[in-house]
Amino acid sequence: MYKPKILVVEDDKAVLNLIKMTLETNDYKFHIAQNGEQALLDAVSYNPDVFILDLGLPDMDGTQIIEKVRGWSSAPIIVVSARSDDKDKVEALDMGADDYLTKPFSIDEFLARLRVAIRRRVSEGSVSIESNVYENGDLKIDYQSGIVYVGGEEVHLTPIEYKLLVLLSKNTGKVLTHNYILKEVWGNALQSDVPSLRVFMATLRKKLEKGSSSPRMIQTHIGVGYRMISLSNNNTKV
Ligand code: CA
Repeated sequence: MYKPKILVVEDDKAVLNLIKMTLETNDYKFHIAQNGEQALLDAVSYNPDVFILDLGLPDMDGTQIIEKVRGWSSAPIIVVSARSDDKDKVEALDMGADDYLTKPFSIDEFLARLRVAIRRRVSEGSVSIESNVYENGDLKIDYQSGIVYVGGEEVHLTPIEYKLLVLLSKNTGKVLTHNYILKEVWGNALQSDVPSLRVFMATLRKKLEKGSSSPRMIQTHIGVGYRMISLSNNNTKV
C-alpha cells in the first residue's frame, strides 16, 4: 500500500519532538526540515504529499515557503504556528495553505487535520478529472448538467449560488477565505463585498438544508471564510 509522505518544517525542538513522536506512533512516513532553505530543497527532492509548516523559521518566513511551493505543487499545506492573529491565518490561507493549527494544539486535532489533508490528496490523485458528479452526505452535484440535488430532490440555485457551491465542493475540507471566494466568484475582492457574500451564503445554506437530514456541511470561520466539510470518507464518485 502506498504511504503518503509528510514533510515537517519546524525549528522548535519541543514541538518537533511532539510531532515526530505522534507521527511515529501512528506509523506515518515523514521527513524533517529545520529551516526554510532545507525545506525548499526537501520539497523538491522528497516531493511530499502533505506539508506541516511552521511560520516562524530561523532563515525565512513560512509564508515564503507556501508561495514557492504553490508554484509547482498542490499538496496540502497545514500551517502550525504560534501566531493566532486572524490576519496571519488569512494571509497564510490566501497564499495557498489548506489549514491552520494554532500552537499549542491537541494531538487528536493534529491527527484529524492530517487525515483530512491526506484524504484530499488521495482523492485528487485517484479520481480522474473526468469525474463530474460530486456526492457529500445528502448533497449531489452534477457538474456537467449543473443540477444540484438534496436528498434526491432537485434544488434550484441562482447562478451565483451555484458558483459558490461548486467552489466550496471542489475544495471540500479546505477553508476558503472571503478574499479568495470573492475573487473566484465575482472576479474582484473588495472588503465591502463581504456582507453580500454572507447574504448569498445564507440563502444557499437555506436551500441546501431544506429536505436534508445531513448536518450543516458549510462551516463558517468567523473573520476568515467558509469550509465545506466532508460528511463521508469518499466524497467524490464517478
Ligand atoms: Ca518556529
